[in-house]
Amino acid sequence: MGRKILFLGPPGAGKGTQAAMLARAIGVPHISTGVMLREAVAAGTDLGRKADVIMAAGDLVPDDLVVAMVAERLSQEDAVCGYLLDGFPRNVVQAGALDAAIGKGALDVALLLEADEDALVERLLKRAEQEGRADDNEDTIRNRQSVYRRETEPLAAYYPEHDVDVVTVDGMGTIEEVFAGIARALAG
Ligand code: AMP
Repeated sequence: MGRKILFLGPPGAGKGTQAAMLARAIGVPHISTGVMLREAVAAGTDLGRKADVIMAAGDLVPDDLVVAMVAERLSQEDAVCGYLLDGFPRNVVQAGALDAAIGKGALDVALLLEADEDALVERLLKRAEQEGRADDNEDTIRNRQSVYRRETEPLAAYYPEHDVDVVTVDGMGTIEEVFAGIARALAG
């Protein structure tokens, strides 16, 4: 198994939790563009100021900004031997930019966490109560699901055409069950 892994899956499928666990287990950095962008917003950087309103609406931050942020992160030493990408690439343009930045072999495998949309909306509404994320209200949640279907889901077809296997994992169990499914998928 390679150590350059992409997590795909709709908002609320548990990518963040699973990606953090897997990154720890295999010893690679967990690179989450959502976390990085929320940090930029909180810190009030140039990037954060540009991203703030877009994120609150559940739309995608412009590709050039996100690509520059990720390219910088991937150039750091801890990413040399592998990384777990969570939330990037988010569309086909970003996927092309990743290849352009890293060259062939930027990814060994993509894990697709599958989940039922209604259940996801439920989950995200619950998270809204617990974490108070600005983009966890019902309108924004619905918009993020539709942005996912339109922009990100096509990557599940794009990657096999670009020699990257996409492995599907059921995202609807408990955290432990889903993680076990991921481990099985990567082993098989
Ligand atoms: P996430 O935590 O991955 O759900 O991301 C939260 C929000 O950050 C998204 O709804 C987007 O507004 C923004 N975002 C995260 N990753 C990207 C990306 N790769 N491209 C554009 N916008 C992104």
